Amino acid sequence: MAATGDSMASTSTNVDGTDNKIEKITFSQLGVIDVLCEACQQLKWKTPSKIQQEAIPVALAGNDVIGLAETGSGKTGAFALPILQALLASPQRLFALILTPTRELAFQISEQFEALGTTIGVKCAVVVGGIDMMTQSLMLAKKPHVIIATPGRLVDHLENTKGFSLRSLKYLVMDEADRILNMDFEQEVDKILKVIPRERKTYLYSATMTKKVAKLQRASLQNPVKVEVSTKYQTVEKLQQHYIFIPVKFKDVYLVYILNELAGNSFMIFCSTCVNTMRVALMLRNLGLTAVPLHGQMSQAKRLGALNKFKSKNRSILIATDVASRGLDIPHVDVVINFDIPSHSKDYIHRVGRTARAGRAGKAITFVTQYDVELYQRIEHLIGKQLPLYNTEEQEVMLLMERVTEAQRYAKMEMSELSNRKKRQKDEDEDTEESSGVRKKFKKKRKY
Ligand code: AMP
Repeated sequence: MAATGDSMASTSTNVDGTDNKIEKITFSQLGVIDVLCEACQQLKWKTPSKIQQEAIPVALAGNDVIGLAETGSGKTGAFALPILQALLASPQRLFALILTPTRELAFQISEQFEALGTTIGVKCAVVVGGIDMMTQSLMLAKKPHVIIATPGRLVDHLENTKGFSLRSLKYLVMDEADRILNMDFEQEVDKILKVIPRERKTYLYSATMTKKVAKLQRASLQNPVKVEVSTKYQTVEKLQQHYIFIPVKFKDVYLVYILNELAGNSFMIFCSTCVNTMRVALMLRNLGLTAVPLHGQMSQAKRLGALNKFKSKNRSILIATDVASRGLDIPHVDVVINFDIPSHSKDYIHRVGRTARAGRAGKAITFVTQYDVELYQRIEHLIGKQLPLYNTEEQEVMLLMERVTEAQRYAKMEMSELSNRKKRQKDEDEDTEESSGVRKKFKKKRKY
């Protein structure tokens, strides 16, 4: 498809640095101590990523750091290693706080801290919404070394959990600061900054330097050193990108065809709504494919469960809304399918960024229908490339039509059953509320 615009630089920032012009240096050369170098080896991190090469020496020298980098660049290691090294030098409970915008990211960061810190016995606690406050209070009472938290829930604990304070904190990390602020956590962050010591080290990581981030930086960092690896608007070289131009009514059958053709890979399929995510998942399941949905209307436990099933390779197809397009660390996605075209072109970059990570190859296929041409051209303009058409055999695709139609029919029935069940549940809840209201009034009357 025709695209306008200049072509973009194509240097990549893969975590293992295979594609870009990074010298192969070692963690030890950056000043990382042996025990942590061994932990990196265990994780098969052979050489430091670009952001790690830039940020670790600066942090180890005792500076505050502003890192402009996205998930996928290895930024968690860039802040976790200096913190763990400092913790080893002067062990202390409630040593570091990592603020991050989403629950999923919090768990991912915690996993990396624990993996890097197993041999030194680091204890982490994840403090996020959607999980029982009481259980978290007990965890905090054990005084972990590192707390990874979303701002809202942490403030809740600071205000309501007896005996919990961060007055001795030594390190603060604000991860994905632009997203934290975009999610209106500004007040919570301010509250947190007020109750932690001024004498501390602060690392601020953000994908973009927005006005709000710059303000936060002035308020919270001291003489920071800026390190930057921009992955913005760039897609990596090992990513093969294609589009497929089809009438909207054939989207499902083409999807099934591609999944069959590329069977054996792990897939992430992006849809634009929660309902479509559910529908596609049910349809694929009716065809015997192992698909799990992930969207914002699922409970936190279900979202984590779905993600874990996919991560542990029990399921090979994850169908998600853009909730999952940023920030999630899913290392083994081979193919990203944009089943519904993203309405913001920048989301295209985030979505396809789920594959071709850590120097591996990956494929991205974008479905373009008669209604999506303009949006698609915007994407091509943004990435500065015209993508090749993904080749399909139409006759072979159409052979699947009957089975797919049947699966669609069942999915439709299951969807309406699900929504009826939800409606019934809601009605029952309302009835219970009403009758408990009546009961209360009745009790009141009897009292007087
Ligand atoms: P992050 O950007 O911190 O979310 O990291 C993205 C992924 O890259 C995670 O799965 C890390 O385990 C992995 N990773 C981080 N640093 C390295 C490295 N130096 N070499 C290879 N993989 C890495």
